[in-house]
Amino acid sequence: MIVQKAFKYRLFPSGAQAAQLARTFGCARFVYNQALEFRSKAWQQEKKSIGYHDSALKLTEWKQEPEKAFLSEVSSVVLQQSLRNLDTAFTNFFQKRAQYPKFKSRRHRQSARYATNAFTFKDGRIILAKQSEPLDIVWSQPLPDDAKILNLTISRDTSERYFVSILVETDVKPLKKAKAEVGIDVGIKTLATTSDGEKIENPRPLVKCEKRLKKLQRRLSRKVKDSNNRKKARFRVAKLHAKISDTRRDTIQKFTTKIIRENQAIYVEGLNVAGMVKNHNLAKHIADAAFGEIFRELEYKANWYGRTYLPLDRFFPSSKLCSSCGHLLDELPLSVREWDCPGCGVHHDRDINAAINIKKAGQYLLKWIKTTGWGARKVTPTRNERRRSA
Ligand SMILES: [Zn+2]
Repeated sequence: MIVQKAFKYRLFPSGAQAAQLARTFGCARFVYNQALEFRSKAWQQEKKSIGYHDSALKLTEWKQEPEKAFLSEVSSVVLQQSLRNLDTAFTNFFQKRAQYPKFKSRRHRQSARYATNAFTFKDGRIILAKQSEPLDIVWSQPLPDDAKILNLTISRDTSERYFVSILVETDVKPLKKAKAEVGIDVGIKTLATTSDGEKIENPRPLVKCEKRLKKLQRRLSRKVKDSNNRKKARFRVAKLHAKISDTRRDTIQKFTTKIIRENQAIYVEGLNVAGMVKNHNLAKHIADAAFGEIFRELEYKANWYGRTYLPLDRFFPSSKLCSSCGHLLDELPLSVREWDCPGCGVHHDRDINAAINIKKAGQYLLKWIKTTGWGARKVTPTRNERRRSA
């Protein structure tokens, strides 16, 4: 199956390249924000819908204006891509998949997308338009031999690290059929538990970082606005955030790859994790992001490698049900990690029991879907999801 995959690498630009990239990010952001304003106004004032084409004409006009002459210092392809990104943001909004597009800020992650006519790729060296030297890329994993490059996105995160994400088209071969099936329960204490009893703990650094992050954030809030110290403090917080998300991503990648390799069918609980953590603290923030990532990874990897991925109804009482005898508890507070079934006396680990129930219910549901042909949930990931990472 031909799929799109993104490969992300660290990038170390020279001083001149970093300066040129900063200009490019700035212009891409400027064009995005200008076009957003243009499209919003046209809609609010005249109920006129502006598409990519009209925005592109507008871009040509802006480039003629003397005070916007700086736009011609960067690759015009990148600016057009910026308009396309905005167009996608609007499409997602109209199709109710996302909120109304927001203005981009210089404070957040910066990025610029290069279509194939805005860079050269030869002998493993990438040279961007308007640059003369190849980029210093850390090729931490090889691109597939048959990879056809579709585009590049260069980004700089809030802790000033540079990345290149290469979107390629490649042929993915389904894995050999596996015999095993698995149910997965996700949670705050333990990130994921499988019906086989395997547990993925929230990576240790996260727990350690959490304390440090709280301290840094408190410190940041005491700093004078727009001061240099505040800038430094914000940078430290951003760096820690980056470390947390890197560790999380790495753990999740390894876990989902293993799950997909070993199992033919993967059953998970629906995505309503909101009820699990009541307060809006950091643990919730991290966990939310992690669950979404686990499910997303499983879903598209299952699709690539010929596995079945099936999320269950989110109201399925996986925790309170005894997986041995079917006894249903009235309640089971989150603090109770282990319990004895009043029905059959079996001792349960809370999470493993839930995962086993998820697996059983999933198998039952799958059988039902197969025999009735009832509208199975379509498990094809969207283009953006496939793009996310490999
Ligand atoms: Zn029981």
